[in-house]
Amino acid sequence: MSQLGDLYQELILDHSKRPRNFGRLAGANRMAEGFNRMCGDKITIFVEVEGDIVKDVHFEGSGCAISTASASLLTGAVKGKTRAEAETLFENFHNLVTGAPTPGVDFGKLAVFAGVSEYPARVKCASLAWHTLHSALAAEAPEAEPVSTE
Ligand code: ZN
Repeated sequence: MSQLGDLYQELILDHSKRPRNFGRLAGANRMAEGFNRMCGDKITIFVEVEGDIVKDVHFEGSGCAISTASASLLTGAVKGKTRAEAETLFENFHNLVTGAPTPGVDFGKLAVFAGVSEYPARVKCASLAWHTLHSALAAEAPEAEPVSTE
């Protein structure tokens, strides 16, 4: 069990030191900012939504290792998903970190955050990026869709 714990810790350290999809996203048409006062984590999520598909996700910000690693793994997990799939993943992730994982769900790399449920103060760190993504997806597009002239 401790070996598995070490492996998980390594994955979190790796993603916090070398976050994937970090930086602004040129084609983003959704954006939201998240702030976790308890820890001081700040995250901005950029999403490019095309039709119903989350085409790409990037993030910027500064925070603790858990919040950064969570945001990094989020970008890989939701890219290419439909908005509904991304929202379901958000719910499942929330259940995972609050200690009530949805039965039968394969969390893949996100399973690394299961241990967070034992540290209530860290739950907000792990879920910040997901709440921010949720806000970004719920936001209206900044520019209206082009209206067909036909
Ligand atoms: Zn934090």
